[in-house]
Amino acid sequence: MIEVKNWKKSFGSNQVIKGVDYRVETGDVVAIIGASGSGKSTFLRTLNFLEKAEEGILTLDDITLDMSGKISKKDILNVRRNTAMVFQGFNLFSHRTALENVMEALIVVKKMNKDDAKKIAKEEFARVGLQDRMNYYPHQLSGGQQQRVGIARALALNPRVILFDEPTSALDPEMVGEVLDVIRSISHQGTTLIIVTHEMAFARDVADRVVFFSDGVILEEGPAKEFFANPKHDRTRQFIQRIN
Ligand code: ADP
Ligand code: MG
Repeated sequence: MIEVKNWKKSFGSNQVIKGVDYRVETGDVVAIIGASGSGKSTFLRTLNFLEKAEEGILTLDDITLDMSGKISKKDILNVRRNTAMVFQGFNLFSHRTALENVMEALIVVKKMNKDDAKKIAKEEFARVGLQDRMNYYPHQLSGGQQQRVGIARALALNPRVILFDEPTSALDPEMVGEVLDVIRSISHQGTTLIIVTHEMAFARDVADRVVFFSDGVILEEGPAKEFFANPKHDRTRQFIQRIN
């Protein structure tokens, strides 16, 4: 499981995450929804230590980190190895092929040698249906294909948790489906998935639980079907109606 307690993050005097408590059980798929600027990306980024939360306790199975104490580089690497991020803008290296992009993650984060990295990377391309595009450069791939490379890169790390930050919102509409299909296909394979998304139908169908972020706090959360059928807060109801 992954759990945060009293999780806080500020940028200067602007507190963006305001003491969030949340726990995700192993293998669960959680969708995070909420208005732009409510802190969803920052929340994900702090879980992966792309941003450092200044207060709170993170538990990732046997790893426990108290952010108000000293966090070592080893602790950060340990969390990074077990949490992988899929970005809205794909974040691929443009001068490397799709295969090299996935290998790079294994070599840097997992300290793997090139041959082992290549073997594992190739397997992940099969999982995202891109075996025939491994040697293409990002600019030779569609947005949907680039994002599937991003997902292959995350899968290759074999992390305990994959964090998706609006994985389809930079895509042309006709490419959204192929990426959601890949995420759906990995949603039952035991890896915990936390997905920030505006795709409400997808959230309802694929997520076990839905979290509504509002102004740096979790305003409401619950089992996906129940959450959409019967939102408790007016603001949740308004948000769901507006976006559908
Ligand atoms: P969301 O993903 O829900 O749209 P974000 O987490 O991106 O929200 O942003 C939440 C707030 O944090 C916004 O007010 C945003 O301007 C601010 N913010 C995000 N990243 C930074 C940053 N690197 N430096 C300063 N402020 C930031
Ligand atoms: Mg965001």
